Amino acid sequence: MPVVKVHARQIYDSRGNPTVEVDVVTETGLHRAIVPSGASTGQHEACELRDGDKSKWGGKGVLKAVGNVNDTIGPKLIESKIDPADQSAVDKFLIDLDGTDNKTNLGANAILGVSLAVAKAGAAQKGVPLYVHVSDLAGTKKPYVLPVPFMNVLNGGSHAGGRLAFQEFMIVPDQAPNFTEALRWGAEVYQKLKGLAKKKYGQSAGNVGDEGGVAPDIQTAEEALDLIMEAIDSAGYKGRMNIAMDVAASEFYKEDEKKYDLDFKNPDSDKSKWITYEELADMYKQLSEKFPIVSIEDPFGEDDWEAWSYFFKTTDFQLVGDDLTVTNPKRIKKAIELKACNALLLKVNQIGTLTESIQAAKDSFAAGWGVMVSHRSGETEDVTIADIVVGLRAGEIKCGAPARSERLAKLNQILRIEEELGSQAIYAGSDFRKAISM
Ligand code: PEP
Ligand code: MG
Repeated sequence: MPVVKVHARQIYDSRGNPTVEVDVVTETGLHRAIVPSGASTGQHEACELRDGDKSKWGGKGVLKAVGNVNDTIGPKLIESKIDPADQSAVDKFLIDLDGTDNKTNLGANAILGVSLAVAKAGAAQKGVPLYVHVSDLAGTKKPYVLPVPFMNVLNGGSHAGGRLAFQEFMIVPDQAPNFTEALRWGAEVYQKLKGLAKKKYGQSAGNVGDEGGVAPDIQTAEEALDLIMEAIDSAGYKGRMNIAMDVAASEFYKEDEKKYDLDFKNPDSDKSKWITYEELADMYKQLSEKFPIVSIEDPFGEDDWEAWSYFFKTTDFQLVGDDLTVTNPKRIKKAIELKACNALLLKVNQIGTLTESIQAAKDSFAAGWGVMVSHRSGETEDVTIADIVVGLRAGEIKCGAPARSERLAKLNQILRIEEELGSQAIYAGSDFRKAISM
């Protein structure tokens, strides 16, 4: 059942920016994927091809990427007659057609749209749900593992206004008995948090950031965490809910000075207050003594390897590489060798194909790392990552707050998968870092 038609179009993401949507048609019908987009992107990510014509969409149009699918990738893929169920052959074909290391020729956004739409066509051809197809491709064992949802309930950094430097404050219901309950716990805490934020900081504190979390204009991580702990307490989950953060420290690393600026959104930030990586590491230590922190992502800049290795030696919680590793097997290898982190944030559009994403997860599992599948801050109604996290047996997902449909779309899809699998699935729970071997 080869691909008979490929058609891409430009649509819009959750921030109102253009993005690529791809339709792949086979005998089983139309299979569609939409590409997400980051704001705090790593420098080493695969190329997101944007038009750069400032007279339209501020230069963010993706008509070139769309054209690359419609004029080049589509016709050649149809001509190749590759079996859509053979994902690695399709992705190899896409990588070779592009011919560059970072997919700068055709654009990783063009390539990923085709790769994911073909994966859906492959699943349909086999007559199975996408998570089953991904599980086959990755060779993961059964039973299926449903992930712990890391819910980003308070937004800062480049995803929100306000002064807060750290980007994401997540609640982690790893002690819930199953995914459905985990989501209920999270949703209840979120509603309490919203009420508390408004009460303490005024009505506008209930406004949300890019990922649906509240975004009060507070300055320190401690204040954010105090507020979240109060919400957990008032929702009745005291002692049962853990915390994770994505600092996204590359956004405020000052490379020339080798310092971190926790007031980076202030154009008049006082340089004398910028801190060293040792001081920042101390701050994390203190926070983890006061709060039940189980995971920190991007605590340091994407090329500040020395800081990562320094911190790694003294921590036992999950240390997640995002901008550091960019879902790229070469960067993951380096992070393993330098003992820089112990978990991968897996973002499909950082690397550009499903096969390479699966490989990134397998390399990470082989090193004993955790793998957290992730959305981007610019998202869409596409729910592919929900199937990927289940198929990979990764055991952890972050896709924002339990609010805003582009975030809930993924969580709702996992609810459906949990219902469908019934006793054939287990919840990762407190084993989320080792879900692959549960
Ligand atoms: C992240 O940094 O983990 C994230 C989801 O944000 P973005 O998509 O902006 O990189
Ligand atoms: Mg991140």
